[in-house]
Amino acid sequence: LEQPIVEHPRITVIGVGYLGATHAVCMAALGYDVLGVDVDESKIEQLRAGRVPMYEPGLEAKLGEALASGRLTFTTDMDEAAAFGDVHFVCVGTPQAADSQAANLSYVEDAFSALAARIDRKALLVGKSTVPIGTAERLTALVSEISPLGAELELAWNPEFLREGFAVEDTLHPDRLVFGVTSEWADRQLSAAFAPILAQGTPVVRTDLSTAELVKVAANSFLATKISFINAMAEVCEATGADVDLLAKALSYDTRIGGRFLKPGLGFGGGCLPKDIRAFAYRAEELGVGQAVAFLHEVDEINNRRRVRMVDVIRDLAGGNLAGKTVAALGAAFKPNSDDVRDAPALDVARMLYLEGAEVRVYDPQANKNAHRRYPDLNYSGSMADAVTDADVVALLTEWDEFVDADPSMLGDLVRTRRIVDGRGALDRGAYLQAGWEFRALGRPAHT
Ligand code: NAD
Repeated sequence: LEQPIVEHPRITVIGVGYLGATHAVCMAALGYDVLGVDVDESKIEQLRAGRVPMYEPGLEAKLGEALASGRLTFTTDMDEAAAFGDVHFVCVGTPQAADSQAANLSYVEDAFSALAARIDRKALLVGKSTVPIGTAERLTALVSEISPLGAELELAWNPEFLREGFAVEDTLHPDRLVFGVTSEWADRQLSAAFAPILAQGTPVVRTDLSTAELVKVAANSFLATKISFINAMAEVCEATGADVDLLAKALSYDTRIGGRFLKPGLGFGGGCLPKDIRAFAYRAEELGVGQAVAFLHEVDEINNRRRVRMVDVIRDLAGGNLAGKTVAALGAAFKPNSDDVRDAPALDVARMLYLEGAEVRVYDPQANKNAHRRYPDLNYSGSMADAVTDADVVALLTEWDEFVDADPSMLGDLVRTRRIVDGRGALDRGAYLQAGWEFRALGRPAHT
């Protein structure tokens, strides 16, 4: 006999950070009744007041609409969450462990345990967080051990692929959905929770729990590898005088290769790619297949070497010694249109410059606050103009439009010496050269 599903399920979202807040808001926008849950009271307060605690374009407007519709509410009360939801999405963090390259799964375990201990009817628990292979199976055992209903609770894994900066668009119009499910009921119940997105014709891959977990880390591994591949070519270019930007351009015309994520520069960072490839390599070793993904260590190393190289180029341009030099660090976020500074290459570079005695002035259009929290020792400027005034060297570290669109002549009037290093391959070299700048870029020959 087919078990009944809830056709229009009530949704809880456990953990309303970058992923969860977006998911909660978008599910409400799609017409579901949604309860967002977090252990962080100040986050919940802000969301209730219609403020998004991070910078994500378009999200705050959508949050306002969802609150006004009455379909979206927030709580810190797990009892309330357990009583409310037919489908519970777990979106808590899985950061790198403090003492190893593994993922810290304690938040995920806490969230599933808290739900399992409280839910007293049939419900679907859906993991969205990025986790090592085998986690969902372990959580299934944990849940059935804790739950007063035992096997009545079912687990599914539905990894998330959204990009910060495009989170709303990616959530409402994903490239694909992945449903890791172990029963027909779970598949139908999860499908009901995504009905409006499925109705758009979005491709769905229905699979087991392990494959669902693996899709996410494999996707991130591929993207990280593509970035590190072109950055490895940049290293070769630096040794030979070749130009990596033109190399990337020429490669990109080959449709088998494609141009996306083939941008040379300071490399990847953020709360996902670095920790996900490390956790994957760690987990693969545990599973006895470490060799298969040993290249991910190299991908990580290539990526980290870009930051060191950037400092080398800046030091070189500053005359071989950074002590007492003023460097304008343009950007702190790991990428533009985000305020996320987790494992940000920009901040790492700023920090290394500071440790070599430079006076570093960091300016990011959105991430100054987060950056200051992480590195209070650095100087932070309130504007791009402030940051570059009297600078000996300007370093482009995050390619925000504001920096890319800046007029080289106007900038030139503010700095002490017209020297700039483009860490993102984003600036118009010709325009800078014409305005009398010394111009350097990663992976390209020096131009003066
Ligand atoms: P985040 O740190 O911004 O948010 C996590 C939230 O979970 C925080 O608000 C925290 O207070 C809350 N939390 C922790 N423990 C909790 C508990 N027991 N109960 C309720 N709330 C709890 O992290 P994030 O960037 O949103 O990432 C979350 C997960 O999603 C990670 O596994 C990440 O790898 C994955 N992911 C993130 C992105 C992204 O772009 N940020 C994209 C895809 C997948």
